[in-house]
Formats: sequence, C-alpha cells, structure tokens
Amino acid sequence: MSSDRILMSKPDVGELEEQYVVAALRSGWIAPLGPDVDAFESEIKERIGVNHAVALASGTAALHLGLLALGVGQGDIVVTSTMTFAATANAIVYTGATPFFVDSDSVTGNMDPDLLDQALGELQRAGTPAAAVVPVDLLGKAADYSRIEPICAAYGVPLFCDAAESLGAAHRGKPAGSFGRAGIFSFNGNKIMTTSGGGMLVTDDEELAQHVRYLSTQARQPVVHYEHTDIGYNYRMSNLLAALGRAQLARLNSMIQRRRLWRDEYRNFFSSVPGIEIFGGPDDSEDNYWLSSILIDPEKSKVTALKLRSIMDRENIETRPLWKPMHLQPVFANAPRITNEVSECLFDNGLTLPSGSSMPEAHMHRVLMALECAVG
Ligand SMILES: *Cc1c(COP(=O)(O)O)cnc(C)c1O
Repeated sequence: MSSDRILMSKPDVGELEEQYVVAALRSGWIAPLGPDVDAFESEIKERIGVNHAVALASGTAALHLGLLALGVGQGDIVVTSTMTFAATANAIVYTGATPFFVDSDSVTGNMDPDLLDQALGELQRAGTPAAAVVPVDLLGKAADYSRIEPICAAYGVPLFCDAAESLGAAHRGKPAGSFGRAGIFSFNGNKIMTTSGGGMLVTDDEELAQHVRYLSTQARQPVVHYEHTDIGYNYRMSNLLAALGRAQLARLNSMIQRRRLWRDEYRNFFSSVPGIEIFGGPDDSEDNYWLSSILIDPEKSKVTALKLRSIMDRENIETRPLWKPMHLQPVFANAPRITNEVSECLFDNGLTLPSGSSMPEAHMHRVLMALECAVG
C-alpha cells in the first residue's frame, strides 16, 4: 500500500504545544506538580463553569477517585451505560462495587432514561439501591441530563458523569461534565484534546474535590513525617503534561471546528446514500464532534458495516465499530443489566470514520473517494 494510512483520530499537536512543554521543562517544575497544573485546572474550571477541578493521571483514575469520594465501595451497585469504553466499568470494579449496565436510546446511543428509571426502581425494591449513576456521553454527545438528573434526584442517587469523550460539548447550553455531583474528562492520546495521557475531575463540591486531591497524592496527612490514615493513590497529573494540556485547551475551539467540518462533509455525502445515516440523530449542534460515525441498515445498504470496514482497510483508511457493549464482554458476563438490544444493534451496524482535527483536507478527500467507490 503506497499511500499513508489515514487514522481515525490522530493527536493534533504542533508548535504551540512544543512551546508550552519546553517552557515547562525550562522552568524546572518537573517533579511532578507545579504552576502549569494549577493553571490548567483554573482554565478547565473556567471553560466548564465549575468551582473545582483536579488534574489526574488519566480519565480512569478520575472515575476511580470520584467514585471513592462519593463513598462507593465493596458490595455497592453502580448503574452505568453499557455502551461505553471498558474504563467506566473497570473503575467501578476497582472500588469493589458491581456495575449494573443500562442500555441505550436508539438515536444517540446514550443511556436510555426510561431504562435508568426502571433499573433504579428495581434496585430500590430489591433493597439494594444504587450507590451512584454514571452515564457516559457517547462519542462527544452529552446524554439527556434534563431527564437523567430528575430521575437520579427522585431516587436520591448521586449522579457522576463520564464526560471523557465530550469535553466542549453541552446539553441545553450547559457544558458536558458540569452535570450532577461531579464529572470527569480524559486527555488520552485519541481524545478531542490530549495530554498524551491524563484526566480531570470537575465538581462544584469543595469537599469532594479536596478528598479526590488527597487520595490522588498518596493520602498524605498534612504533617512532615508522612502520616497515613487512608490508602492513597499516585494519580496526580505531572506539570509537563499539564503544560501540554494548556496548549491543547487554547486550541480546543478550533479543533472542534475542524471536526465539525468533517461531520458536515460526511452528513452531506451520506444524505444521498440509501440505508446509511450519520449516527447521533439530525441535531448535533451541541456535540464536540469527537468522532463521526455512521449507522448502516443492512437491508437497505449495498454494504454491511463489516464489509465497508474491510473495503476501507484495503484503501489504508482506519475505521472502527462503535464500543462493544459492556454486557456482551466476557469479563462482565455475570453483571446485572437492563437491555433493549439497541446497543447490540449499534455495535453490529455502526462504523466510526476518520475524524481527527489534524487530518489534512487531502485525506478527507481520499476517505470520501473510497466511500464513493464502496457505497456511491
Ligand atoms: C477514554 C475513556 C475513558 C478513560 O480515559 P483514560 O484517560 O484513557 O483513562 C473513560 N471513559 C470513556 C467513556 C472513555 O472514552
């Protein structure tokens, strides 16, 4: 294959990132906290409109510590979306709790509020009320918090949002990550912005933020001789990576714009292709456009998702199915769940297309040409 491989979402870093990281390196703040961590937290707080932010080593670490700070532990049940990356469910298991998987709304793939209501009701009646609800904002579209918030409130269960994929998105004008008791973001390499690896917990709850900060730095009591009364973690973000995050955050709007352009091009292209639609529904105005995916109706389309994936692969273009639902994962075979077959259908018929903000126009052109040959 002669042409470069076109990836789904390559990190978008350049001169600004280089400047920030080199400046942090030269400042001597290497070991490991420093002013860029503080500044990065302030800038995220401002962007999301919350009072507290704690920069951490990963989104998974942020989920883990957020759950612990909410009091989740051994024997608890935490309700979460089945349509997610394994990290959400793994973090629940780290605390000793059991994930309870809730299936998806058929348009957005996000947690179905009616099924959530049903799950919380069943758990309450069984005498094992949920300890927390962790919805996931799938591929950069916020879940339906206007319905999820009052449902959680009615059952008195804390809402903790996995906004790992939705930094910069909103729901009815309110930023993703700012709903419920707390939210988390991921800055992993393929997310909308990256610190190479990193995450952040955001909240308006000062006590919760302090507790997460404390647990993330080995649970050290504020005395010189390293006194410990709790088990701690080494989960803080390093100053060098926070510097990278600050440069990325400064460019977040333009990166979102670029991804939005690809979404519009795909939407335009598929509008005349029978049996294929853009995943997520017609209204994407509040998305961050992290990844653009399509849904293929195998009865009406020339190709199945599997076939299209292999055609694109031959053209050296990376595509990927949507997340394999957690309730279908061997490791969670015995986990409780309420399903409606939507996530299975999305897994079978969905395909994510190249969406990266650093992708040049010429690559998008190649992707559209390949799609034209396959389905046009
Ligand atoms: C990426 C991701 C995470 C994990 O974030 P890391 O920074 O990679 O640990 C958690 N939840 C979801 C939904 C994600 O997509």
